[in-house]
Amino acid sequence: MALLLADYDLNVAIFEKQTAVYPYPRAIHLDDETLRIFQAMGGVEELQSCITPFEEMQFIGSDGRLLLQVAVGDATKAYGHHSSYWFYQPDLEAILRKKITEHKHIDLFSGYEVDALSQSPSGCSIKAKAIDKAEWIQCKGGYLVGCDGGKSIVRRSLGIALESLDFDQRWIVIDTLLKTELSDSDSDPLSTYHQQICDRKRPATYVPAVGKHRRFEFMLKKEETELELLDSEKQRALLSTFISPDRLEIIRASVYTYHALSAEQWKSGRCFLAGDAAHQMPPFAGQGMCSGIRDAHNLAFKLNLVIKGKKDAQLLDSYEQERKSHVRGISKGAIFLGKLIQTQHPLLAKLRDFQFFLARHFALIKELMRKDAIQKQPYQQGFFTEKHRLCGQLMIQPFVQKSNDAPTLLDTYIGNHFALIFIDAYDNTILERFVSDFNPVHLDFSEQGPFTSEVLVAWMRKHRLNYVLLRPDRYIFDAG
Ligand SMILES: Cc1cc2nc3c(=O)[nH]c(=O)nc-3n(C[C@H](O)[C@H](O)[C@H](O)COP(=O)(O)OP(=O)(O)OC[C@H]3O[C@@H](n4cnc5c(N)ncnc54)[C@H](O)[C@@H]3O)c2cc1C
Repeated sequence: MALLLADYDLNVAIFEKQTAVYPYPRAIHLDDETLRIFQAMGGVEELQSCITPFEEMQFIGSDGRLLLQVAVGDATKAYGHHSSYWFYQPDLEAILRKKITEHKHIDLFSGYEVDALSQSPSGCSIKAKAIDKAEWIQCKGGYLVGCDGGKSIVRRSLGIALESLDFDQRWIVIDTLLKTELSDSDSDPLSTYHQQICDRKRPATYVPAVGKHRRFEFMLKKEETELELLDSEKQRALLSTFISPDRLEIIRASVYTYHALSAEQWKSGRCFLAGDAAHQMPPFAGQGMCSGIRDAHNLAFKLNLVIKGKKDAQLLDSYEQERKSHVRGISKGAIFLGKLIQTQHPLLAKLRDFQFFLARHFALIKELMRKDAIQKQPYQQGFFTEKHRLCGQLMIQPFVQKSNDAPTLLDTYIGNHFALIFIDAYDNTILERFVSDFNPVHLDFSEQGPFTSEVLVAWMRKHRLNYVLLRPDRYIFDAG
C-alpha cells in the first residue's frame, strides 16, 4: 500500500510494531494478479528467486488413492503470469522492506505500536509507542489505512464489528526444510504435487514449496489440545504419514483457527481497513494475502485521485463496494474447498468421494467444482461505466511490441496510470471527459500506431471493441 501510494509522490508514514521481517513463512501461495501488482511496483524481477510456478494439485482419499488431479488456473497465462505460484514469504517481505526503506516518500517507523487514533473532517491522527524505549510519536495525516491484521487496533478503535461467515476450524501448520534432496529413485518419496489429503480421520495438506521448503498441515481432532500438537514427538508422528521425519528439519509449527470473517464496514470517515483487518478466510485457496494486496491496489489509485483533487471524496466509497463482494466470493470458494477436505461424517465422506469420481469422469462436473472453488468475480458495481459487459473486469495482459523494441508485457507501458488502449479510431467526444480527468497513457494499436500485439487485437475484435480505458489497477473502466 505504501509503495503504491508513494509512487504517486504522496508522503506515507508506516507504523509497524515488529522491528524486522518475521523470519518464517505464513502465506505460501500467490496468484497472477498479485504478481501483476508487484509488477506495477517494479518488483517482479527481484521476486523470481523466491517464487516457483504451481500448476497441478491432487485430492487423495483416505486409502491413499488419487481422487482427482486438477490443473490450477489457466494455462494461457492470460494475465501475463502463471495462474499460481508458491513463494517464500520472508524473502518476499525482505524485498518489499528494502524498497520501502529506499523510497524517499516513505517514513518507516519500525518497532512502534499504534495504540490510539482519532479523526476529524480534515485528517487523522495516531499515537504510537516505541516497543523498546519510553518514546511516543504522534503523527497526523490526511488519511489512515489500517493494514494491521486480524486483531486490528484501527478496526477496534473505529468500533467496527466482524461478521462471521461460519467457518472455524483448528489446524496445525508445520513448516519444514528437506535435509537431503529427493530423487525419483528415492525409497521414501514425497509428491511433487500439492496434495489435499481427504482422510476423514485426519484431513491434511501437503505443499511442495520453494527450494527445500515443504509445508504440512493437519486438522486437529475435537479432543486434541494445542499443547498436545505442539509436542515435537506428536509432530514427527504426523509427518511420518508423508515421509520419515528424520529427513525433515522442522522450522516452525503453529496451531491456527481458520476463520472466515468480514468487517461490517471497511471505511469510516477518513480511515480504511485493508487486508486481514477487513477480511479473513481459511487458507485453502491461498487467497487471504492476495486479497489484501488487491485491496491496496484498488484503494491506492483512488486515494491519489481524491488527494490530488481530480475526483471528490465520494469515489472512496467504491473501495468497499468493489472489494467487499469480491472478497466474499473468494471466501466462499475457500470455504467450499475447506468443507470438501474436512468432511468427517462417514456417509458425507463417501458422497464427497463419489463427487470426485464423477469429476474424474465428466468434464462438466469437474468444471462445476472448479467454479465453486474459484469464485473470483468481476466487480458488479463501483467506479466504472456500464457501457460494456467487460467494464469492472480485470484486463488481460498479453505481450506487446512497440515499434522495433523487444516484445514485453502490456503493463510495462502503463505504470501506475490510467491507460487508453485503442485499435481503431474511437469517439473522442465520449472519452474527452475521462481523458481530461484521468490523463491516461495512450497505447495506439491501430495501423498508424507504434504498438502491435496479435493477441490483444484479436481479443479486442472478439469483444467488438475499438477502445478500452483501464484504471491503474488494470480493471476496465470503460470500453466501446
Ligand atoms: C497458515 C496460513 C496460511 C496462509 N496461506 C496463505 C497463502 O498461501 N496465500 C495467501 O494469499 N494468504 C495466505 N494466508 C493468509 C495471509 O497470511 C494473510 O491474509 C495476510 O498475512 C494478511 O496480511 P496483512 O498485512 O493484512 O496482516 P498481517 O500479516 O497480520 O500484518 C499485520 C501487521 O500489522 C502489524 N501490527 C498489528 N497491530 C499493530 C499496531 N497496533 N501497531 C503497529 N503495527 C501493528 C503486525 O505486526 C503485522 O506486521 C495464510 C494464513 C495462514 C494463517
